[in-house]
Order: sequence, then C-alpha cells, then structure tokens
Amino acid sequence: MKNYKKIIEDIYNDVKQVDDIGKVANYIPELANVNENNFGVHITTINGEEFSIGDADKKFSIQSVSKILTLTLAYKLIGEKIWNRVDVEPSGNPFNSLLQLEADLGKPRNPFINAGAIVVCDVLISELKNPKEDFLSFCRNITNNQSLNYSDKVAQSEKNTGFRNIALCNFIKSFGNIKNDVNRVLDFYFYTCSLEMSCKELSEIFLYLADDNYKNDKEETILSTSEAKRINAIMLTCGFYDESGEFAFRVGLPGKSGVGGGIIAIHPDEFCITVWSPKLNPKGNSYKGMLFLEKFTSNTENSIF
Ligand code: GLU
Repeated sequence: MKNYKKIIEDIYNDVKQVDDIGKVANYIPELANVNENNFGVHITTINGEEFSIGDADKKFSIQSVSKILTLTLAYKLIGEKIWNRVDVEPSGNPFNSLLQLEADLGKPRNPFINAGAIVVCDVLISELKNPKEDFLSFCRNITNNQSLNYSDKVAQSEKNTGFRNIALCNFIKSFGNIKNDVNRVLDFYFYTCSLEMSCKELSEIFLYLADDNYKNDKEETILSTSEAKRINAIMLTCGFYDESGEFAFRVGLPGKSGVGGGIIAIHPDEFCITVWSPKLNPKGNSYKGMLFLEKFTSNTENSIF
C-alpha cells in the first residue's frame, strides 16, 4: 500500500493534537451522546489493501453519507429518469434550506441536500415493496455485511425534532414532486440517515465508486462506469453542502460528509478513504475530517487534479 500507512499515521498523530474548534451536532438530540474525542481513519484500495488507525472500527451515525446509497439504489431502479425529479447543481445553501425550492418549483438542486434526498426516498418508496427492509438488504449486499443496521433511537430522535425536514417534504409535496404520503417518506428518510457504520465499513461499501470492475460476492455490479462517474461528479460538486467548493479546493477528491462527523472520499481507480471525528465546523462538516483529508492529499500529492 504505497506509503499510505506511514503518511496516514503521521497526519493522524498531527491532527489529533490540533485544537478542535468544531461542535458536535445536537439538533438531533441523540447525536449529542457521542464521545466527541472519537477519531478514526480507514483506507481501502481497489486491490483490497486496507489500513486503519484510531477509532476506525466503532460504528457511528452516518447521517447524510447515506444519501449516496439511496441515490445509488434509486438510480439503479429508474435510471436517468431520476434527474427529472432532482437536479445536479450545487446549492450554495445549507443542507436543510427551504430557500431555493420556491424559485425552483419544488425540484431540489441536488440529491445530497436534504430536499433532494427526501425526493430520492419518495422514488424508492414508489419502487420498493418494503422500502426499509429492501434498502437495508441492498446496503448489506454490497459488501455482504449482514451486521449493517439502522438505529431506532437516532431515527426516533430525528423524527421528534425534524421540523425542517417535515417542512421541506410538505413544501415539495405542494409542487407535486412527492408522490407518496409525507409521513411515510419522512419516516423512511429518517431511517436511512440513522444507518450506523464504522470507518472500515464505509470505506469498503463505497469501493464501487472507485473501482470500475467492482462486483459483490454474488458477482453483481453495483453501478456501471458511467453511472459511477455521475455520482462521483455530484459528490465533487455537491457533497459538502455549501462548503463543496472549499472541499474540492482543499482536498481535491469527490466525497460526502454527514452531521455524525463522518466523511468518505473517493480517488477513482485507487481507493476510498473514510475519516470520522464528530465535531463539526459551522457548515456542518467534520472539522478534523476535512483537515486530515487536506493534509492527506497534499502530502501524498495525490488528488484527482
Ligand atoms: N438526518 C440529517 C438531517 O436531515 C442529515 C443531515 C446531514 O448529515 O447532513 O438533518
């Protein structure tokens, strides 16, 4: 594994010492119960080499990182028609913003802000018999990881406090871009966000975005090369809310973050790397996660640019 091991160890030890100016997300009360000092990194290469450091095996709430998985399944199920329901433009707005929807007549800017992911969940509800079970088994089958699961606690906690998401879903429904019952859509959305995975599991599950020849153990492909290209492109331009430009500028890899403090980043044809550190910067991205990845692509001189 090149010299990744030594480089990751050095950066990890360096970033560990940095004073963390971030704050753990607490607008979903259950997320505030995490130990804020957790810090883990895991890299998996397309050749199957892996390296971990820190809290890389502890499961955490992946939150918006799950938006890649819901989009992947919806894209598989309805193909290019998905883009009639959700756009592929950066929003330049916070992840839970209602602002642009009025002007855009209920078509969310992209699938990685809450509005877009809620529409993607609506598509999945129309397409799947048992959305929660079917989505979970889709995720489990990517890496044959039967231990993947939702957290009822986190999903319920978000349900009790998710007023903005409830507003978003109703607002989009008023434009006709939500086809199913809003409570069903929201319940499914909250569950998808509550998925729990470790850095190691995340790096393994998203290898299909790095490896054109990726097949699961049933010899099934997850996405075609061109579909994976599109999802990577949206990650690069929209994966970090209104800080997507900053992430591309500092790190130079397609990626996606979640308010649980996880970030996954893809180097196409090379690897998937995951960092988890729960304290978030004001834009909702892991403070140390971004710092780690910036140093990683700078020190290895290996980004997509
Ligand atoms: N479940 C969170 C919400 O909808 C996800 C936010 C995120 O991770 O960006 O507010």
